[in-house]
Amino acid sequence: MKNEMTAAVLYGRENLRIENVPVPELDPGDILVRVRAALTCGTDVKVFRRGYHARMIVPPALFGHELAGDVVATGDGVTKFALGQRVVAANSAPCEECFYCRRGAQNLCEDLLFNNGAYAEYIRIPARIVERNTYVLPEHVTYQDAALMEPLACVLRGLDETRARPGETVTVMGLGPIGLMFVRMAKVHGCRVIAIGRRPSQLDNAIRMGADEVVTARDDQDAIVERVRELTSGHGTDVAIEAVGKPESWELAVRLLRRGGRVNFFGGCPTDTRISLDTQLLHYSELTCTASFHHTPSTVRAALDRIISGDVTARQFVNRVEPLANLLEVMRHLMAHNGHMKTAIIP
Ligand SMILES: [Zn+2]
Ligand SMILES: [Zn+2]
Repeated sequence: MKNEMTAAVLYGRENLRIENVPVPELDPGDILVRVRAALTCGTDVKVFRRGYHARMIVPPALFGHELAGDVVATGDGVTKFALGQRVVAANSAPCEECFYCRRGAQNLCEDLLFNNGAYAEYIRIPARIVERNTYVLPEHVTYQDAALMEPLACVLRGLDETRARPGETVTVMGLGPIGLMFVRMAKVHGCRVIAIGRRPSQLDNAIRMGADEVVTARDDQDAIVERVRELTSGHGTDVAIEAVGKPESWELAVRLLRRGGRVNFFGGCPTDTRISLDTQLLHYSELTCTASFHHTPSTVRAALDRIISGDVTARQFVNRVEPLANLLEVMRHLMAHNGHMKTAIIP
């Protein structure tokens, strides 16, 4: 085992360096994973642009959080995993003891432990994540497939929150990788899906994921409301999912609902932004507004099951493969262009 490795270190805004750093040391219960695939994520791009994420990563820090690889070392007391196993680990684990964990809202855990460092040859998976959010991969699941587990777990939690039932219409706004995962999962769940996105390539992707109808997003919100009504016999959609992360888009999502409809505000908006809601509409139409952050151990497990069953594959979401040395260029590219799929980084 070497004691140095190549890794991406985030120092601040758009300041990311590929460096030689010590291979992480293990505490009891930890495992060391040789990363075989790490996927880029919208959150990473946001963090790269801003230089930090108050909850998830404070620089200087190892970077990247969607990964799969091989177990190459185990800390004292590890019994669940053995050397050589192919595994996937989520980027966090809850304490299971606090007020929120005891209420089944582990995503809101007061002591959520985050782990970063997927863009590296090796990553230490801390004991708590080993215990609660790490799994062995069946042979047919590729590393890239498996690395989709974390974002998919967030999506499944968002979809759960809407209580969407088979046969209902789910309208997804925003067709980046997350929006497309919603399209796919709503379809697999047996819903009719309307997908709203700006770029023709995104609309094509949505159709490939199973969207029944696509609507081109434009600045004229009334036209979008009108179109969704036409597609839902004048009623509006049963469920709307906002996966854009803009206040105006959150407001639009509410306007797409039928009476008794449910919205999930999934896309995080910039800090200090506000939306306004029509109180009469909320009241007389009995609208339900939900929002989602992160995942829970049960949605992590459910996400892996979807991947194992083949409902979601890397082929659908990863359209570029690059060595770790090119990460800076990849991040700059993703920052400059919207509407990208994921890039697999192979350290
Ligand atoms: Zn992610
Ligand atoms: Zn907790």
